[in-house]
Amino acid sequence: MSAPLPLLDPPQPDPAPPAKRGVLDVPADEFRAWLAARGQPPMRAGQVRRQVLVNRAVTFEEMSDLPKGLRAELADEFDVFSTRVERHRTASDDTHKLVLRLADGGMIESVLIQDEGRATACVSTQVGCGMGCVFCASGLNGVVRNLTSGEILEQLVRLRNLTPKPVVAEKNPISRAPSRREVRDGTTVALADRLTHIVVMGMGEPLANLDNLLSALAVAGDKNGLGIGARHVTISTVGLPAKIVRLAEVGKQYSLAVSLHAPDDALRTRIVPTNDKTGLDAILAAADAYFAETGRQVTYEYVVLGGLNDQPEHARQLAGLLAGRKAHVNLIPWNNVDGLPYQRPRDNDLQYLIDTLRKGGISVKVRKRKGSEIDAACGQLRRRAEQTSVRSEG
Ligand code: SAH
Repeated sequence: MSAPLPLLDPPQPDPAPPAKRGVLDVPADEFRAWLAARGQPPMRAGQVRRQVLVNRAVTFEEMSDLPKGLRAELADEFDVFSTRVERHRTASDDTHKLVLRLADGGMIESVLIQDEGRATACVSTQVGCGMGCVFCASGLNGVVRNLTSGEILEQLVRLRNLTPKPVVAEKNPISRAPSRREVRDGTTVALADRLTHIVVMGMGEPLANLDNLLSALAVAGDKNGLGIGARHVTISTVGLPAKIVRLAEVGKQYSLAVSLHAPDDALRTRIVPTNDKTGLDAILAAADAYFAETGRQVTYEYVVLGGLNDQPEHARQLAGLLAGRKAHVNLIPWNNVDGLPYQRPRDNDLQYLIDTLRKGGISVKVRKRKGSEIDAACGQLRRRAEQTSVRSEG
């Protein structure tokens, strides 16, 4: 028997799992029928959603524009949220990471990243992941199921609720300052009082759950929803060509990020096993079609694995592959995952990669590490939470 892992967080309240359905997952027509059966007009459905999406209500009781009796009936039938917070960790840079327990016991992760004036939600689309990228924690145990659109939306709402509350217009504007600014490392930074951006880069393969994702993003984009424009939403995919083409046809301005991770098929298939069925050519063709259809520049993500895909020949091949494309490359130095045999890149290898791409006329950024002390890398905190709960159950 191995020694128990250290408990990383103080024990947190653990209320009984909700038995009711989350109200965000009730289809509009069904909700209206439910209301009609109680003698309530259809507009109540919109009021409830608005309360959760705009007013940050977390109980039916506080929805003061609804009749008291209805609030009680709603609470008997539904939960405002179908998930509960299993873990909530906050890093010193204001990154929040939530591990959410789903009604069926599964666990997912969601992260809020706060930067000067921006609040970015990183959300999951599946429990686990079926893509099996060899360096990633999310897929170590395969995929369990797709998330519902309500479960995707709920992550956004929960993360938004962690941003400072907007201050209603006050007579004295100076009184607005404290809730929106805070001192970090000796400088004052602004914190957005709503979500400004969404990155679909949590657990799972978003394009394997495209319909539910699109429904959730439609609500996120609505002015009576979360009001986040499509241009502020990035969908990251392992590279499923047919689904990329379908996404292009949706007619929205979502940003597309394609996880490339290698400049040739042999290496990519070692790192990203699904490449066996797709191949780089089809992925690049689909990404080109996405750009042609939407006018949105495609980002290529490249997890930099020390010694494996970061050598000078890889740099030159990658620059050649992307030459002539209006592409942007996001280099992501590998975040350590316990038990996996990969390494972060050496500084000079990373620099050579950056320089070679830039010389080839390709725009490059190295992803900043946010919230690293709270395991903000995909799938990491969920694994720890699972290991802890398995231990405490056993
Ligand atoms: N399934 C989607 C979303 C995955 S998460 C996709 O493949 O794009 C978003 C990005 O983080 C992907 O590029 C993924 O490969 C990368 N990633 C996953 N685990 C990582 C790790 N441990 N270190 C660095 N990047 C990682």
